[in-house]
Amino acid sequence: MPELPEVETVVRELRPHLVGRVILDAHVDWARIIAQPAEDIPRFRAGVSAHTIVGLTRRGKYVILGLHDARYVLFHLRMSGRLLLSALGQPQHLRTVFDLSDGGRLFFYCQRKFGRVWLVDDPDVVLGDLGPEPLSAAFTSDALRVLLRDRRAMLKPLLLNQRFVAGLGNIYVDESLFRAGLHPRRAANTLTAEEIVRLHDAIQSVLRQAIDHHGTTFDGMFVRPQGEAGRQQEGLSVYGQAGSPCPRCGTTVERSIVGGRGTHYCPQCQVMLPQGKLMGRSFAPDQDERSRPRGDGARSSEIGERPQPGLSPAMEDAAR
Ligand SMILES: [Zn+2]
Repeated sequence: MPELPEVETVVRELRPHLVGRVILDAHVDWARIIAQPAEDIPRFRAGVSAHTIVGLTRRGKYVILGLHDARYVLFHLRMSGRLLLSALGQPQHLRTVFDLSDGGRLFFYCQRKFGRVWLVDDPDVVLGDLGPEPLSAAFTSDALRVLLRDRRAMLKPLLLNQRFVAGLGNIYVDESLFRAGLHPRRAANTLTAEEIVRLHDAIQSVLRQAIDHHGTTFDGMFVRPQGEAGRQQEGLSVYGQAGSPCPRCGTTVERSIVGGRGTHYCPQCQVMLPQGKLMGRSFAPDQDERSRPRGDGARSSEIGERPQPGLSPAMEDAAR
């Protein structure tokens, strides 16, 4: 599903085509895509028509379109949503179209029907529970340390939790944990100070690189607003790479279910225990493992947040 880098790509590439335009009319052919006013196509249409788009931004995985009357249209693409500037040729998946004053149109396609649109006075009604933006100035390694403290959950499900940190999904959590050298089943409160700094740097560098590459088009679900694919799929280290050699050590990348989600990792590079209890190897170049303090993560690392039985990964994604 589209994650922070894909949504950021959508926002950046749509912005010059939307801001300053008037929405002349809106067509919605499937009422359930309107989350607010719930399933009410006439009220949604009246609320956006003849309104100027004054801004376009992102929070977590949400696209936020500001209208001149200080109301907002929010989109969540969920599994398969696409915001496009031209028709795709799959009319059966087209849910919403905005006609714009310059003759342009904004198309919202959603094949799996998990995507949603809101028209709200206050975006916090929808966004209020989101955790910090991982690329914001406020998201420092110290802030991450405070967030991780006292959390016994496994890193994988914790980083996927949008209330913990906003915008990460399955691809970039797996890639961040690989880059940080941390096992996805590690308990959050067993990380050393050094590992927290590494995790923070990994999250930010993974996201920035993916934004620079216009996102990941892995399964054909995500395309950029003018129909092009992203390029980050060529730069993935472990996500979707099960059975291939780890780009760092050559060990076969594994896939297993962690917290109910398919998870890709290198069993050699990603350590299960705090360094000092050697189960994997460190890649920080300046570390002497013999001098590292011995932590106490062995038992507590088995404790994680409960997976959600009965929810398929697709349903879980849709629930976020
Ligand atoms: Zn490796």
